[in-house]
Amino acid sequence: MKEYDYLVVGSGLFGCVFAHEATKRGKRCLVIDKRPHVGGNVYCEKRENINVHKYGAHIFHTNDKTIWDYVNSFVEFNRYTNSPLAFYKNEVYNLPFNMNTFFQLWGVRTPAEAKEIIQKQIDSLHIEQPANLEEQALSLVGVDIYEKLIKGYTEKQWGRPATELPAFIIKRLPVRFTYDNNYFSDKYQGIPIGGYNKLTEGLLDGIAVRLGVDYFEEREQFEALADQIIFTGKIDQYYDYKYGQLQYRSLRFEHQTLDTENYQGNAVVNYNEAEVPYTRIIEHKHFEFGTQPKTVVTREYPEEWTPDKEPYYPINDQRNNTIFKRYQKLAVQESNVIFGGRLAEYRYYDMHQIIGSALAKVSDHFGD
Ligand code: UDP
Repeated sequence: MKEYDYLVVGSGLFGCVFAHEATKRGKRCLVIDKRPHVGGNVYCEKRENINVHKYGAHIFHTNDKTIWDYVNSFVEFNRYTNSPLAFYKNEVYNLPFNMNTFFQLWGVRTPAEAKEIIQKQIDSLHIEQPANLEEQALSLVGVDIYEKLIKGYTEKQWGRPATELPAFIIKRLPVRFTYDNNYFSDKYQGIPIGGYNKLTEGLLDGIAVRLGVDYFEEREQFEALADQIIFTGKIDQYYDYKYGQLQYRSLRFEHQTLDTENYQGNAVVNYNEAEVPYTRIIEHKHFEFGTQPKTVVTREYPEEWTPDKEPYYPINDQRNNTIFKRYQKLAVQESNVIFGGRLAEYRYYDMHQIIGSALAKVSDHFGD
């Protein structure tokens, strides 16, 4: 008999949830991660007594009460509501696109006036079936918003013309004809009080963890330890890139501690013009309504992924999706490996979706 029932490769949310649920069912799990800490990209690092979202801002939101109750059973969430600002040259706009944004753009005060302007712009373009992100954005909000608030940000973020990006990315952003700056339309939203580590460490409580180890460097030894594998890393790497490399978008985070109590007055400020090299500045203390004497801010610079960088976002264009499907065909044939999470499923998942997918795979696997 092997030492463990499951080897969980990667301690992000998918790995944590699977390990927790398997352990709850009496299984023996070993979780490994190449980083020196658990939690994947939701990991928070304390600086100046502020929980710094080291790998990018994470704001939890879901419509699913089961998922909300699940995360709240490990840590209490606060009432944080994401209301990012967009800076474009010398102008300041509210996001997501709503009546405040429309007033700031055109001076209109009623939904009817705003709808009329947007509809006129949409009609003049004659786009029947949006085929890419640019066409999708133009046919949702018209040319003014596209030019100021979408094109520059999107092309920086993805390093590609908006005409070469999939339309679904922009559907993440709501368009509202109410004065409502809440970025998400979900029923439940918040930040774990005390940071995300409480969630991931709570999920992994009592479970064996080995940090700072690379699965690919000792693959055979690790596989000898357990009957089954939960793999949450890059699926193309799992198969030794045999069908080619998938592309990812990476990010460089420039963290800075400032000797000021409040730098930008909001947790998230987007910089929407193409000329500013970063996409946003995060001021972490505002996620938890912090009153610390200093502040920590993070500038986010998008970059193309190379093997020395972190793969943050899958690039779900046609070329990559075609390659991914070939890997997926191999993956479904594996009898003792489960693939899950943003990298293994090559999907632009949010946290609540990862948890939902992990719980679904758990019940599928254990048949309960
Ligand atoms: N986006 C934009 N302008 C903004 C914010 C977002 O055009 O001010 C677009 C951009 O293409 C981005 C997508 O909307 O990739 C999704 O944004 P979201 O904030 O959901 O991205 P994430 O926080 O996951 O990076």
